[in-house]
Amino acid sequence: MSGRTYRVTGITLKGIPLGESDRVVTILTREQGLVRAVAKGSRKPSSKWGGRLEPFVINDLLLVRGRWSAQADASQRLQRIVQAETLQSFPRLGRSLAHLTAAQYLAEVALLLALPDQAQEELFVLLVEHLQRIEQAPTQEAVLPLLVHGLYHLLAVGGVAPSLQACCSCGWELADEVFFCPNLGGLICEPCQRAQQPNSLARLSSAVLQALGSLPNPTLPPLADRTLPLTAWLGAERLLRQILEQHAEREIRSARLLAGCYPTAGAAVVFPTVNEQGSPLAPTFSEGNSKRIGGRLKKL
Ligand SMILES: [Zn+2]
Repeated sequence: MSGRTYRVTGITLKGIPLGESDRVVTILTREQGLVRAVAKGSRKPSSKWGGRLEPFVINDLLLVRGRWSAQADASQRLQRIVQAETLQSFPRLGRSLAHLTAAQYLAEVALLLALPDQAQEELFVLLVEHLQRIEQAPTQEAVLPLLVHGLYHLLAVGGVAPSLQACCSCGWELADEVFFCPNLGGLICEPCQRAQQPNSLARLSSAVLQALGSLPNPTLPPLADRTLPLTAWLGAERLLRQILEQHAEREIRSARLLAGCYPTAGAAVVFPTVNEQGSPLAPTFSEGNSKRIGGRLKKL
């Protein structure tokens, strides 16, 4: 093996066409974080790669580093895949739109949070674990809590999960009345919400608070014991998504598909996205299927 050749374990997160028959694959690896590599000939019908470089397939990979200038940033450092031996795949993620959407959502979040040129063991292990759980969910309804759970854990590893115990403004312990403040990017207490523009706040319902409160645990309660409505999980998802989108300064595009997976429940989740004059609140993010409403405090 030459000095430019190395071996990693990685999960494919996305692929884009390159030229007539190649593909650039983005892979989250344990050892080197995000890697972008060319798979030569992978779009030919008789490609030697088969389905090995499709999204959500974990491979033992042999890569060769390209030659790039010292000024090239990570996005320009393309590598080449020499060998790929599949260790694990998740064929049952395709069994429903909700399963696939949840997997794509977590992959998109991992892409945002992962860094190149450094080990990403924790992020890799968490992503794989949550994909396994989503794959095993028996119904579309069972997928949503698992997606929100995985989302929170990825945000926690990325250092951007909101504090669920302390007000992000004053640091005091949160009590029964809890508000989400998009401008501060976190949860605030009742006294602190009075200092904020009321139409930029969302008061969290007890169901959303319960959903959020369960997220730091390593596992969720067994399916039979989950009593929260889907709207509570959608509210928690919306809140975590806004925090991430604010942090990343971009939209999580996979989240748009959630409305198609949970149309009835989604219609019940309201979120303040415009003020009383009908102008968008700052900062604005994906509005998804939220209702355009004015007024004062809204329940998530
Ligand atoms: Zn406070």
